Amino acid sequence: MCSVAASRLVELSNLRLNFSSLVVLHCLIIGLSLLAGSQQALASPANVPTHIYSPQNHEPILIGTNMLYLEDASNALSINDILQSENRWQAIEKSAPNYGFTPSSYWFYFYIDSQSATNEKVYVELPIPFLDSVHLYLVKQGRVEQHVHVGDRFEFSQRPINHQNFVMPLVLEPGPNQVMLRVDTKGTVEAPLTVWSPEQFTYATSNDRLLQGMWMGVIIIMIIYNLFLFSLLRDRSYLYYVLFAMSYLMFQVSLKGYGFTFLWPEQVHWNSYAISVFIAASNFFAALMVLSFLDFKKHSPAAYRFMKGLSFVCGALLLLTFVTPYAWSVRFNSGMTAVSCLISLSSGYWSWYRGNANARYFCFAWTAAFGGVGFLVAAKFGVLPATFWTNNAGELGILLLVALLSFALANRFDTEKELRIKAQANALEHEKQARQSQDALLRNRAEANKRLEQKVTERTENLEQALQKLETVNEKLAIMSTTDALTGLPNRGHFETCLQKEFKRAIRNQRSLSVILCDIDHFKTVNDTYGHKAGDECLQAIANLFNKRLSRSGDISARYGGEEFIILLPETSLEQAREVATDLCKQIREMPFIFASKVIPISASFGVSTLNTTGIFNSDQLVTQADVALYEAKNTGRNRVVCWDPSSDGPEKQDTQTST
Ligand code: GH3
Ligand code: MG
Ligand code: MG
Repeated sequence: MCSVAASRLVELSNLRLNFSSLVVLHCLIIGLSLLAGSQQALASPANVPTHIYSPQNHEPILIGTNMLYLEDASNALSINDILQSENRWQAIEKSAPNYGFTPSSYWFYFYIDSQSATNEKVYVELPIPFLDSVHLYLVKQGRVEQHVHVGDRFEFSQRPINHQNFVMPLVLEPGPNQVMLRVDTKGTVEAPLTVWSPEQFTYATSNDRLLQGMWMGVIIIMIIYNLFLFSLLRDRSYLYYVLFAMSYLMFQVSLKGYGFTFLWPEQVHWNSYAISVFIAASNFFAALMVLSFLDFKKHSPAAYRFMKGLSFVCGALLLLTFVTPYAWSVRFNSGMTAVSCLISLSSGYWSWYRGNANARYFCFAWTAAFGGVGFLVAAKFGVLPATFWTNNAGELGILLLVALLSFALANRFDTEKELRIKAQANALEHEKQARQSQDALLRNRAEANKRLEQKVTERTENLEQALQKLETVNEKLAIMSTTDALTGLPNRGHFETCLQKEFKRAIRNQRSLSVILCDIDHFKTVNDTYGHKAGDECLQAIANLFNKRLSRSGDISARYGGEEFIILLPETSLEQAREVATDLCKQIREMPFIFASKVIPISASFGVSTLNTTGIFNSDQLVTQADVALYEAKNTGRNRVVCWDPSSDGPEKQDTQTST
């Protein structure tokens, strides 16, 4: 089973245009072909396959498996040995002339029957440009007539035909032409031969190169574009992508022989390594790209460690490629390609499953690549018709891989940009809200402060007004409490406070202090005769008189009660006080008191007392003495002044008839 499958795949791998269009397919072929058994049947020389060549037929001759083969495990047989001895030629019963990695030499044998009447030049093409050595012989009657030797050990300039594949010219004579081919190589032994007329070959080559050129052009554009993006964005994924695409492109260039044809035609040694170096580089950069693109570091530390390990192995294999023989390096790098492709695809889906939205296009890309291989295989197994598209599905798959990976990168950048913009917008919004709240807070605080200030001002003003009112009221109260409402003179209470103060001072300073008591004569009669209002006005008139007369500082006149007045005269002797009282008595008597257009005669009696060093111990005594003197004045006829006589300790004796 396995060998059949392998041989089918081997056949696929040998098809022109499609050969190794995908690394995956390539490595699977190599792997499986190693397992292919040797179920060949013997064939007799008489049954040598013959191909008809007719110049009129414009189709090339696909030799395919229609030839015999011979394995020379000793590598010792020459063409002469082959021609001179009986050999065990065998029919190729596989689907393609592919013998995998083998140290043996392989011989192939077929006839071309030329239908032309003249000699015809043809090209035998072997599109495996990394075969080490290929001998093509045209044998006529047991002798070698023509011999072409090609191989990748020769410089490019030594090739008979300037082409990326081995193209060996032969001149066919009319009739059957015996053709033999010997292949030796350290890689896989393959011999998918095609016989072309030179015109057909030129035409097919130009078509092929056009397609390849277009394919490579697209890949190169993607490389340049992503390199440009990398220089702008500095995202490592772009760099790994570019290096992967470049490595893969170079792998294709080497594999198809274009590298040797156009880039390093003289570097034979390098050419033998180029394929495995570029496979290894593709593996290495693909692993790094997966690692970087899928952000395993963020999403899964275990996967990150695994992919890092894989990258390390790929890197090590890349280095090993330079020091191990091609036969080995191409094997382990191809094997690693299969592993790394499968891991890339599965880790993409796994990452997508784990919620990494960026992995979506990455999966599409790898799926497209594997899909391309699938279509190619399906076409080759006959499940799908072999059309231009199915034959080139592998290369299309790679094209899609490169394009979709680039798209995946752009998408990832876009997603991250969106997330960044969202985060920035959120941050800005939060900042704006914070600023607005802060502004509102400041505004509220300012308003509250303003209101508070207003209230404080209002309250202060109110308080000041209240205080002022209170002060006014207090002042009024103070005045009211010390003033007599009718006359405006100090009242009795206030007088007594002043009296006590002055009394103490007089005692302390040993100064004289006099008190005059005044009582209006027959005041009751005034009231009774002219009315109470007249009495009030009379009291006011006398008070005014006192105010005018007693202008000396310190003198106090007060209303003592009813129609009585009292006068305090500090530092005033008895005689001086008598003088004041006498003057007042006179002025009252002479004062014209007019009420209701009537002149009302008024008089008053006065009692005077003065503080001296003997006999008086308190202010009450002083007033009492004045009162006694006043009583004496009343009793002795009124309208007069009576002084307290300290020498007799009583009021002065009066003549009852006399008055002041
Ligand atoms: P005398 O000469 O002996 O002092 O006789 P008098 O009438 O003046 O004395 P009396 O004590 O009999 O009467 C005093 C009167 O003074 C009685 C009272 O009606 C009157 N009087 C006291 N206070 C006031 C006052 O504020 N206004 C008025 N209009 N009359 C007052
Ligand atoms: Mg009286
Ligand atoms: Mg009186």
